[in-house]
Amino acid sequence: MKASGGNVLDGIKAFKLYDTYGFPIELTKEILNESGMSIDENGYQQELEKQRLRARNSRKEDNALWEKDIYSTMKDIETKFIGYDVFKSDAKVLAIIKDNEIVDSAEAGEEVNIILDTTPFYAESGGQVGDSGVIKNEDVYINIKDCKKAGGNKFIHIGTVERGILNVGDTVEAIIDERSRMSTARNHTATHLLHSALRKFIGDHVHQAGSLVTPERLRFDFTHYQGLAPDEIKTIEDEVNKKIYESIDVSVDIMSQDEAIKKGAMALFQEKYGDMVRVVNISDYSKELCGGTHVTNTIQVGAFKIIAESGVAAGVRRIEAVTGLGALEFLNKKGELISNIEQILKVNEKDIVNRIADLSQTIKDLERQLEQLKSKVVISMSDKLINSAEDISGVKFVSAILNDLDVDELKMMGDILKDKFKSAVIIFATTKDQKINFVGMATKDAVERGINVGNIIKEICRVADGKGGGRADMAQGVGNNLEKINIAIEASRSLIVEKLQ
Ligand SMILES: [Zn+2]
Repeated sequence: MKASGGNVLDGIKAFKLYDTYGFPIELTKEILNESGMSIDENGYQQELEKQRLRARNSRKEDNALWEKDIYSTMKDIETKFIGYDVFKSDAKVLAIIKDNEIVDSAEAGEEVNIILDTTPFYAESGGQVGDSGVIKNEDVYINIKDCKKAGGNKFIHIGTVERGILNVGDTVEAIIDERSRMSTARNHTATHLLHSALRKFIGDHVHQAGSLVTPERLRFDFTHYQGLAPDEIKTIEDEVNKKIYESIDVSVDIMSQDEAIKKGAMALFQEKYGDMVRVVNISDYSKELCGGTHVTNTIQVGAFKIIAESGVAAGVRRIEAVTGLGALEFLNKKGELISNIEQILKVNEKDIVNRIADLSQTIKDLERQLEQLKSKVVISMSDKLINSAEDISGVKFVSAILNDLDVDELKMMGDILKDKFKSAVIIFATTKDQKINFVGMATKDAVERGINVGNIIKEICRVADGKGGGRADMAQGVGNNLEKINIAIEASRSLIVEKLQ
């Protein structure tokens, strides 16, 4: 271990030891003390605080408070949440809000926010999205697409009245979409399993930095300094699936926050919890303070599949995964992809890899053959150009418009001509996409006699409404006016004649 700045280990390194390798700061201090060294404690604290900020910021977007002023004026209204155990209940309509105004009733076609006295709808929090479902009675039917919390304990059911009229004071039935709730629960329980698996295999420095749990998938952000390798991802995935198939009961304890922390429950930095907290246990494998909804046994998660791993901020990684039927659907899509590839390549699955390797070799071979062929074309064309060369005071001048060749091939051609003539100036043009590419080359001998193709190309590009330049012996440029191509070439000839006379 090397200390920077004399006998003091800098704070960033001390922090890295702790955060990446799980070295407790006290242990680092002790070891350094034995060798008469110390730690830059200020620097260490700064790094620690930076990491907390990073974690908090990436969490903020998930937990953005959804609160509008209208709700803070409704002081006496509270909702009792009973949705951990039941999926439907009778309830009384306490308030209806339409276009951010308190109203007495709402009718078919209107979008409303409804507050009930009792609800089985989970309101978005802790990264878990709100429930969807219906609120109805004989006279009215409302589709609820989301549920959020506002102003303390008001559960805001967001939806559209499909038929009938809803009045404040009405008795209704509130029913959540059970399938969607169960999909969310599978993903939430999987998130807790994932958290524990990461700490077990990646290290104690892994802390939750944010999460999103929806019926379709889960997203888990955590502190770690590098991307997970494919074998690490596989280890984590296998571990979570193993825990699923161990069929472990998921239980919930309500206790004081101090007691929960004492028992080793994992809690988020800076997250607000009440005096009494909910601890979700997956046997001894996972204990987390959590207000979310879960399956009652891990076997209900069905299957767990990681679909992406990426970085979200310095020191924060993200895993996205699916469970249950979502995992099956993901694998089915992969299956479809493979059969599409089979059809295109006209091979069976087991031969796909070999076929692609063959194809890419074939492409390489063809590219090489094409290069050789092009060289042959260039050489045969160069014979014609040699014959057309003009002698200007002992220097050969070759000019041509060669639309079949690209700029690299023009240069190749120029090199052949330079080899052939000891003393030569070459000006080539080729057109593509309404543009002219000019290439100019000159032998050493011609340069010594005052030829500068950099200046010549600059001038003729200007003639063709473009730009160019380069060295005395090698230059290129672009012209934007195709009609000026012949005038430009003629201009180059005049410039050369002028120099050599
Ligand atoms: Zn949770």
